[in-house]
Amino acid sequence: MTDADGLDRAARAIADARRVVVSTGAGMSAESGIPTFREARTGVWARFDPTELASEPGFRADSERVWAWYAERRARMRAARPHAGHEAVVQLAGLVPDLAVVTQNIDGLHQRAGSTDVIELHGSIDRYRCLDAGHEYGAGEPPFALGGGGPPACPVCGSPLRPAVVWFGEQLPADAVARAWRLADACDVMLVVGTSGIVWPAAELPLVAGRAGASVVEVNPEPAAQGSAIRLADAAGVALPALVAAVQRLRHTG
Ligand code: NAD
Repeated sequence: MTDADGLDRAARAIADARRVVVSTGAGMSAESGIPTFREARTGVWARFDPTELASEPGFRADSERVWAWYAERRARMRAARPHAGHEAVVQLAGLVPDLAVVTQNIDGLHQRAGSTDVIELHGSIDRYRCLDAGHEYGAGEPPFALGGGGPPACPVCGSPLRPAVVWFGEQLPADAVARAWRLADACDVMLVVGTSGIVWPAAELPLVAGRAGASVVEVNPEPAAQGSAIRLADAAGVALPALVAAVQRLRHTG
């Protein structure tokens, strides 16, 4: 459980901050019913081999299976709803001059909650790209059928379509990385929520922020992020609303 002193220190750091970055991982979406990858009992990878389902060699070897797995994940993510923690991030943006969300999640829940400045480091389950020529198709209704039976063909060049997410062994989108690292280097507070700190390069963000002098606050029931000075040891849906309430109290008491 979060101790009162940690909550108070985190709230004071935020109340004094001009620039806040909220860096989120799979744990941010756990309370919306989307499993994380690494949690032993419920994690997606406990049942599947990631290199088969989330890599280009795996897709080339069995594109039908990978497409079907992503179709199932997409359906689950679309059915999920943002929780109180996502809403707290939206409220926090109204309490500080500048707040950006940098997420490893592909589920779009921050945007659906109402966050407007969201950098997606690992792509989005709602976008598609063709395997051979990189033609991109955005959210909304894509010009191809999304049903079963394997990946549809790219309407432009005919090559198979894959989800526009970052797979194992792939580079992160350069523009998203550049902006995220700039923000980490310039922020006063970085809130690190629900990430195990294992997946690089995203795991470097709190280190960049810490080195640049920011207060790094971790929200995670389990210890994880390296370099965090303050830890709120609760689930995101509990800790983030409590943090927002504490910042609001400070604002009212001056
Ligand atoms: P991870 O699965 O490695 O770790 C999740 C972390 O969240 C753990 O440290 C865990 O203790 C913590 N956690 C669990 N429940 C929590 C809660 N309610 N509140 C706060 N923290 C909680 O996740 P990761 O570090 O983000 O890396 C996995 C990769 O998998 C990411 O790069 C991401 O792209 C991808 N992924 C995305 C989704 C999604 O979009 N929702 C889901 C699964 C995996």
